[in-house]
Amino acid sequence: MQTPVPDQTPRAAIQAKPTEEEEERIADSQAIDKASKHSPDRMKFTNVLPFCFVVVIITTLYAIYIKFHCLPLLEESGGNFERGRIDFVVVNVFSLMLVVCYTMCIVVHPGTVPNTPKWRLDEESFGHAEPGVKMHETKRTGERRYCKWCARYKPDRCHHCRVCKQCILRMDHHCPWIMNCVGFRNHKYFFLLVLYSGLDCSYVGITMFSSVQASIYDETPFLTMYMLVFGETLCTLMALLVIVFLSFHVWLMLRATTTIEFCEKATKETREVMSTRSIYDLGRYRNVLSVLGPYPLFWFAPICTPLGNGLSFSSSDSTPLLAGTSPQTDASGVRLRTATH
Ligand SMILES: [Zn+2]
Ligand SMILES: [Zn+2]
Repeated sequence: MQTPVPDQTPRAAIQAKPTEEEEERIADSQAIDKASKHSPDRMKFTNVLPFCFVVVIITTLYAIYIKFHCLPLLEESGGNFERGRIDFVVVNVFSLMLVVCYTMCIVVHPGTVPNTPKWRLDEESFGHAEPGVKMHETKRTGERRYCKWCARYKPDRCHHCRVCKQCILRMDHHCPWIMNCVGFRNHKYFFLLVLYSGLDCSYVGITMFSSVQASIYDETPFLTMYMLVFGETLCTLMALLVIVFLSFHVWLMLRATTTIEFCEKATKETREVMSTRSIYDLGRYRNVLSVLGPYPLFWFAPICTPLGNGLSFSSSDSTPLLAGTSPQTDASGVRLRTATH
């Protein structure tokens, strides 16, 4: 370090220090970008089938709602016309958000472990923690967790996905409906997808009910009545399922837990699973920031994803995986999950 020149203020000297960390973080992010490529097997027929199913359902419900509910209302006058106009606008906004989030979920890679010396598994580094790599999660023996299929060390909260054939950063779960894993980089899009699906299905189910009633009591062509009843049933069913799923994900987000971490806890501590806090729990507000991003104004928009690179996470505790459990139990759980995810 050179001796500061007289005109160099202490502030400038302080600012110079985090630049190296910042540079390292940028280099890590670029290495993640480079390594994060979708598996070529992704486009297999069995993987694409659930996606096609979702597209058919979304298109069918949208077409039924517009053709048999909105357009007839828009042909009327007065209050019905106004209602038709509002329904048309609201459903199009929700559907647009749904389609954008769905596309982002499919396109954006959840993030994988970078192929850099710090994370590469080789004989030299085997069994030793790399200096500067601070881990909350280790194996029972205290060694760094690693993936034998990817030949990489695993950062905290990272798991191997057998379908994607790679390690996924802060893996939540593999979702066949989006042909992708839900992980650090696309978690926000997935959460918003579930949210807008729930809002869209609920809005359609509630507002279309009057048209279904009218088609049953008034004289209506059979096809119109059939499509309305079919759409209403499908929509209500979807809304109920999605709302239950959304509630579960809101609960997980507020507790700073991923689906995998929840399942690991559930298999080991059935009774304590509801009360045990994750060590990544930093309080509800900060937990939401870590999924929906740093700006509350953009929480519900598919932009401004969370800060960080998915390789390290702030925690309220520095030793065990789960606060209130023994490190041995945690470590074995991590190892067990390594084999299954
Ligand atoms: Zn792996
Ligand atoms: Zn996957």
